[in-house]
Amino acid sequence: MLIDLHTHSDASDGTDTPAELVEAAARAGVDVLAITDHDTTGGWEAAAAALPSGLTLIRGSEFSTQVMGEGWAHSVHLLGYLFDPTDTAIVDEQARLKAERRRRGLAIVDRMAQDGLPITGEQVLAIAGDAPVGRPHIGRALVASGVVASVDEAFATHLSGRAKYYVQKVDTDLFRAVGMIRAAGGASIIAHPRGRGEQRVLTPELIGALAAAGLTGLEVDHPDHTPAQRAELREIAAEHALLTTGSSDYHGHNKKLRIAQETTDPEVLAALIAVTGGVTLPLGPVPLGPVS
Ligand code: AMP
Ligand code: ZN
Repeated sequence: MLIDLHTHSDASDGTDTPAELVEAAARAGVDVLAITDHDTTGGWEAAAAALPSGLTLIRGSEFSTQVMGEGWAHSVHLLGYLFDPTDTAIVDEQARLKAERRRRGLAIVDRMAQDGLPITGEQVLAIAGDAPVGRPHIGRALVASGVVASVDEAFATHLSGRAKYYVQKVDTDLFRAVGMIRAAGGASIIAHPRGRGEQRVLTPELIGALAAAGLTGLEVDHPDHTPAQRAELREIAAEHALLTTGSSDYHGHNKKLRIAQETTDPEVLAALIAVTGGVTLPLGPVPLGPVS
């Protein structure tokens, strides 16, 4: 059974519409797909409306969070699943982050324009449409303007966290986000906990504290993780009774990742669903045995 619990549509920084995303998943033989756009549930309705028969949809979102370490705020992505999308704390925080992403995106573009790069804020906002602005939208503007040949190249150069154009955004405190998702009846999984240098701050001790605060699990099988990192994360998860998931982090043609490139075990998905409050249910045939 193919289960992919982390994918993006153009409701955030993927390139497929939510309908194209669920259709692509069905074509790839996926049984269960989670839509997890950055800081928004904006793609849920369209994905549900276009759901092919036979595909089960888990509605989720990838929360932009931060945690302090070594005197500065480190970015950590937190996947929330099956939470109540009308929960006030989440709605308010997603609205704040959308405004914050717009401010920060325009600030990056401003730095680039001042340096003579031929892109504009209007161009980037037009590419993002209603989605919260992300660096991949700026990457597409850089490609369209002929500055770089691909979004990948843009990330390796102008959009890198070390580039002179980089501007940080103020994300949600990680512990607060874990609490918010739990209070809204959802399950939370740390996305790629070793993919972007997070090991400096996501220590085994901190992960233990997050587990005690209500964290559900760790995304262990992710394209950015080495075999050694996966083994380390499995050990930490076992110590704290955390679930371990696997997912592709598919972004359409913004990134070279295949849907279901990495997958989650059916028993893990059943356990994940079991910790949720039932406000938002999986949609579709849910090909899982009885939850014990
Ligand atoms: P932001 O959320 O605006 O800081 O942008 C970071 C997002 O860009 C990440 O969450 C990824 O989804 C995406 N990303 C990172 N590297 C690449 C890449 N090489 N190509 C396309 N998207 C990327
Ligand atoms: Zn993601």
